[in-house]
Amino acid sequence: MRKPIIAGNWKMYKTIQEAAEFVESVRDQIPTASDVDTVICAPALYLPTLIDIASDTDLAIGAQNMHYENEGAYTGEISPKQLAFINTDYVILGHSERRQYFNETDEAVNKKVSAALANGIVPIICCGETLEEHESNQTEDKVRSQIKAALNGFEAEAVKHTVIAYEPIWAIGTGKTATADDANQVCGVIRKEIEELFGKECAEAIRIQYGGSVKPENIRELLSKEHIDGALVGGASLQEESFLALVRNAIGE
Ligand code: 13P
Repeated sequence: MRKPIIAGNWKMYKTIQEAAEFVESVRDQIPTASDVDTVICAPALYLPTLIDIASDTDLAIGAQNMHYENEGAYTGEISPKQLAFINTDYVILGHSERRQYFNETDEAVNKKVSAALANGIVPIICCGETLEEHESNQTEDKVRSQIKAALNGFEAEAVKHTVIAYEPIWAIGTGKTATADDANQVCGVIRKEIEELFGKECAEAIRIQYGGSVKPENIRELLSKEHIDGALVGGASLQEESFLALVRNAIGE
């Protein structure tokens, strides 16, 4: 049985004051980490503050992106070593918004996954198809090639501790969710690809999230499916009540 993992992706929302108040308010209401892993991925600027507020609680804090080099002349970037030094637990890598607006390639995502693993940060590796690809039946090829590229060169032992997030781009922030069966089917394709690349044990251990208009109302059905082990949530993670409801509903509390 894989432990569910619910991660909020705050994107470029909230001031540091709002972020700190949110974490202060939810940190002691989060269900125990032995039942569900709960993560907030916040703007990088807020991480030290939020990590401090959430320390010794069941709430983990993650970043939304990072560079793949530990240091160097990369103005404006944040390194895996810098994130690890402040005890960042997770990092979202290859989100479709980064691929779309910041030209992030499969090759860069692969280097970032490697750097995250080397620095002890759990990567949440995103994949997903565009509406056009969805409508022309290219979903499976797209996610398989993204996953293969992102995980190129790693051992099964490392891969099984990563998290995959399947986010169909047409379902992000649109209110359109893939049906639970369709999302499960694609997550199953991802698991099969991982089995082919890294073996059955790794495929059974790795956790695959669905993302795209996940809400407290639909999370239970999504998580009831065989291959969906959690959710990566944008909009519904921004309010304390809906975030707590998401996590509680995820484990049927
Ligand atoms: P929404 O939950 O707002 O659709 O965003 C999904 C997402 O992009 C999470 O990374």
